[in-house]
Amino acid sequence: MRFATRIIHPGSELDPSTGASSVPIYQVSTFKQPAVDRPGDYDYARSGNPTRRALEDALAALEGGARGFAFASGMAAISSVLLLFSAGDHLVVSQDVYGGTYRVLTRVFSRLGVSASFVDTSDLARLKEAIQENTRALFLETPSNPTLKITDLAGAASLAGERGLVTIVDNTFMTPYLQRPLELGADLVVHSATKFLAGHSDVLAGAVITKDAAWADKVQFLQNAVGAVLGPQDAWLVMRGLKTLQVRLEQQQQSAVRIARWLSEQPEVAKVCYPGLRDHPGHALHQRQAAGPGAILSFEVRAPGLARQILDGVRLPLLAVSLGAVESIISYPTRMSHASMPPERRRELGISDRLIRLSVGLEDPEDLIADLEQAMRPR
Ligand SMILES: *Cc1c(COP(=O)(O)O)cnc(C)c1O
Repeated sequence: MRFATRIIHPGSELDPSTGASSVPIYQVSTFKQPAVDRPGDYDYARSGNPTRRALEDALAALEGGARGFAFASGMAAISSVLLLFSAGDHLVVSQDVYGGTYRVLTRVFSRLGVSASFVDTSDLARLKEAIQENTRALFLETPSNPTLKITDLAGAASLAGERGLVTIVDNTFMTPYLQRPLELGADLVVHSATKFLAGHSDVLAGAVITKDAAWADKVQFLQNAVGAVLGPQDAWLVMRGLKTLQVRLEQQQQSAVRIARWLSEQPEVAKVCYPGLRDHPGHALHQRQAAGPGAILSFEVRAPGLARQILDGVRLPLLAVSLGAVESIISYPTRMSHASMPPERRRELGISDRLIRLSVGLEDPEDLIADLEQAMRPR
């Protein structure tokens, strides 16, 4: 069946005991065992909860994986996956990986002896050069944040396969509706479900989806051992949001295309980063590996003071960190999501103080354009 049908009928959508149209919120911490030596399907809610399991099964079905695992946040999911590695191990990581991933690698895992090289993975030659004797994994994000660089997932995964490395992909920006890294050779997919999957800026959640049962065993062990699990109320909210993922993303993407084109025609705008534009360096590659350009774009204005004028002057988009919600969200990477980065690293990544990121929501695109236009006008 096609995606739109599977999203509504992933196989885990009903309450098996009553036929209720949504899975109940099992607000419990423990489950009665049939006998001392006979545990039931569920024993303790850190190990498994039926509400969480329904979400995990839906995510696995949509990503095309063997098993899904839901965590308390995207960072809880990512940190749990990184605990697959041990002191002495090394990872090659996309240069402009999510700021929280950069932080946990450089300030937490570095202390535990797990090292990382941050390289421009949109260039496979550089990625290959960065692989060391002790490299165990690639951790990739495509499109990247906030400059939307594209990494060749199949190319990177095949390189990883030759060297016996694990390929991990953060698929938050695309979601399984637009991009399925496991089909392109990745072993593990991670998500901040806080963003498009849940989609309403009302819940924090994360997920890991594994290619096969062997990886599922390892991640399940860590999920239970570390315990950063998603609670049943939040699992229910993510499932509710997930049902409209396709229609939301389809509409948001259409608006993003419209807004990206409009922005690229404005004399005040120096550059628009959006893989849906033909002049984007990763346009063709992205088109091959994903079903659409998504709903996140960034743009650089020409005048030094104009970025702040726009950020202060817009009335519709929420000035906030986060993305992928029903409302448009505008942010200033240099002072918000990427503020903790050293200035020279920001410069390397093309994150200037004239760069604005926009997550396009479900408002009418003409209203969003009119709003951007009034905010851009000389004051
Ligand atoms: C937000 C985000 C994360 C972190 O997720 P949280 O749910 O905020 O912990 C990870 N990766 C990407 C790409 C994100 O946008």
